[in-house]
Amino acid sequence: MSTVFTKIINKEIPATILYEDELSIAILDIAPVNKGHSLVIAKEEIPTTDQCPDELLAHLMRVVRRLDMRMRERFNIEATNIIINNGKAAGQEVPHLHIHIIPRAADDGKTITMPKCRYGEGELEHYRNELSLDNLAD
Ligand code: AMP
Repeated sequence: MSTVFTKIINKEIPATILYEDELSIAILDIAPVNKGHSLVIAKEEIPTTDQCPDELLAHLMRVVRRLDMRMRERFNIEATNIIINNGKAAGQEVPHLHIHIIPRAADDGKTITMPKCRYGEGELEHYRNELSLDNLAD
């Protein structure tokens, strides 16, 4: 199923394009948290990072970093949130891998609230056992 971002990539619907190459496109988010809020989108129609080759993810992050730097420079931005909603349960509305860059200021009145929990007895070890990476080859 074609996503709204595929339609933008194929120029079937308009978008404010900030950058484009063979692997990625960067656009202004149509409903920004703060003005300048941008999206760096993989051209390949993959939903989440687990399906994204390392090289493509590295490329997307390279574009993100450049755009973040441009944002800071041109609008005197002091901070950004760089976010991937990596699947529907994590709030992803468009199932097509993209990275948000949201310009932030200390007094902008915007908050990201995620209530935190605590580990119970023995749970830290359990999670370490499950999540420890032996190497990056697999
Ligand atoms: P997510 O919740 O991470 O999937 O974010 C999807 C983002 O895409 C939202 O912030 C939307 O405002 C944005 N969006 C949806 N449609 C468009 C569009 N046609 N042009 C630009 N941004 C869009």
